[in-house]
Parts: sequence; structure tokens; C-alpha cells
Amino acid sequence: MNSTKNTTTPRLEINTTKITHNAIELKKLYGSGGIGIIAVTKGVCGDPVIVDALLKSGITMLADSRISNIRRMRNAGNEAQYMLLRTPLLSQIDDVISYTDISLNSELSVIKALSKIALKQKKIHKIVLMVELGDLREGILPTDLDEIVQLVIKLDGIDIVGIGANLACLSGIKPDKQKMDYLSSLAINLKTKFGLKLEIVSGGNSANYTWFKSTENIGRINSFRLGESIYLGCETLYREPIPGLFTDAFRLVTEVIESKIKPSIPDGEIGQDAFGHVPSIQDKGDRLRSILAIGKQDVSIADLRPLDDIEIIASGSDHLVVDASNVNLKVGDNVAFQLNYGALISAMVSPYIAKVYIS
Ligand SMILES: *Cc1c(COP(=O)(O)O)cnc(C)c1O
Repeated sequence: MNSTKNTTTPRLEINTTKITHNAIELKKLYGSGGIGIIAVTKGVCGDPVIVDALLKSGITMLADSRISNIRRMRNAGNEAQYMLLRTPLLSQIDDVISYTDISLNSELSVIKALSKIALKQKKIHKIVLMVELGDLREGILPTDLDEIVQLVIKLDGIDIVGIGANLACLSGIKPDKQKMDYLSSLAINLKTKFGLKLEIVSGGNSANYTWFKSTENIGRINSFRLGESIYLGCETLYREPIPGLFTDAFRLVTEVIESKIKPSIPDGEIGQDAFGHVPSIQDKGDRLRSILAIGKQDVSIADLRPLDDIEIIASGSDHLVVDASNVNLKVGDNVAFQLNYGALISAMVSPYIAKVYIS
């Protein structure tokens, strides 16, 4: 594991002031429409320093897909309400009741198991029922919703506090007016039929920005679960920056270990590379090729974008080779990259990348 000196490479520079700023701005923006925000911490592995920056915005609920991250945040003393995003594993029900206040659910057998353990631990566990609105990841089919609710309201130790939907994540389905109006109508229906108040009608994630900006009627939607837009400052349908937010709260810095003018075409007969692909290579004559000390084992290289005028040529498990002809890199130079979500999550879990906090 790396120590976290500011000069260590590779390092992920994390600007906590920018993260707090983004969380405050999003809270203001969505708050203006009566929508509260829950900060999603899975993309940063529940990192306690980042979580502290999130809580500085006044956000009071944190959501993660993994119990291990929630335990990490609780143990670090981050005071908040904790929501489990991913449907609980039947094998982890005890921990779900112990460590979380609320969980998103879509399986009756799981909710029954939660009820049993909640009773044993003398707790009331809150649940949000997830509804399938077309993205085909988690969710109860709308036609089954009434029947499930009828069964769940009879269970002790369980309190249905909301319904929710998750779009755009798996199949890229847009959370548009039709989807959001439909979710609202389901909430109204549950109130009429079962008297359920539903303090949470959770319309979605960072992909809901476009709908929010264009809609004239929020309906019953009153909550979003936001990860990427807080960390990277963009919405997630088109990856457009959100005005007023920082898109550079995270930066990956690595170091040059070789820099030489070499031909752009390899010499010899071409077979498979280390990962089983046969490279196709264009002849650009002699170029300055620099090797950076980072590779596929450190981070998802395809999700990095150089901030300097260099071009990624290829990468192995430990080397990233770039064309540095335009910037004349030397051995020892630091080279910085912007990260997309795939790069962020892989960098955050990587034990090879030092985390350096800046504020
Ligand atoms: C990951 C996740 C989110 C957050 O998504 P972002 O696009 O990062 O805002 C919200 N809800 C659920 C259920 C998730 O799994």
C-alpha cells in the first residue's frame, strides 16, 4: 500500500472542497423543486474523508450498495442515516438490520427475512420498494406491486416508507416525463388503496437531471439518489457538465519512467499481445514514446482522459505507453488525467493508487 505523500505516484488527488461545493449546489438545485438528495457513496468506497466532505453540505442520508462500505463509514464515525442501495443478499440479512436504517427492496422472500431479523433485533427496518420501469435491472413489476404491498404491510418489524425506480444504469433507459409521471401515479395509488404515506418517492439518480430541468410538474417525486453528478459534476444521460459544478474534483497523477524517440511501427511478426488481442498499428514515423508507471492492474485505463496534449497508444498490466511528441515528456515528469466514473471506481478500490486529499 502506498503512503500518501503528496508526491507519491500514481496518486488520486481528491479535492474535498470541490466535492462539498458540488453537493451544496445539487442540494440547492433539486431542493428548489422539493426534491431532497441522498448521497451515494459506492463510487468512492465509503471513503471517510470524502464522506465528511459530503456531510458538510448538509446532506443527512448516505446510500451505498455494499454493507462493507456502510460498516466502514459507521466505524469511521460518519453520522448519518444509512441506506442500502442494492437488494439485500439473503446471506447478509443480520448485517443489513444491524448497520442500515433503510434498504431498497424488490424480493418478497428478502423482505420476509428482514422482518424476521428485525423482530429478533427489536428494530423497525425501513424499506423502499423498487419498481421496474423499463431499465430491467432491479424492481417489482408494476402489475405485481399491489399484491406485494398487501403482503408486506402485514409483516412486523418492516415499515414501507417509499417507492423508487432506477433507470439509465443497465439499459440506458431515460427517466423521462412518462416514466416519472407513472412513478407518481403508483405512489398516489398506494396512498389511496393502502393509506401508505410514502415519505420517499425516489425518482432516480444522476440521470434524472435532464427530466428535472425540463419538467413543469415534479408530481410526487421527492428524492434522488446521487453519486456521479456530485463527484464528477455531470449528468449521466449525455455526460454534459452541470452548470456551476466542478468536473475536476478528482485527478489521477502518474509518472514517466521512460521517454525515447522510437518508430511507431513495431519490428517483427505480430501475434497476440499480453491480453490476447492482435494490435493494429498505424505508421506515423518516429515519435516520442513515453512510458507511464500505471497499467490495467491499477485502474481502468480506457476510462482515463489525458489533460495534456498526449495520446494513449497502448497499455499493459503495469505500463501505459503514450505519444508525447507534442509535450516532450521527460523521465520523472508527472502526467495528469481526468477520470470518468469507470476510472473513478477502479482508482478508488485500487490498493496501488495513493489517495491524496486536497482542500
Ligand atoms: C449507483 C446507484 C445510484 C447512483 O447513481 P449515479 O448515477 O452515480 O447518481 C442510485 N441508485 C441506485 C439504486 C444505484 O445503484
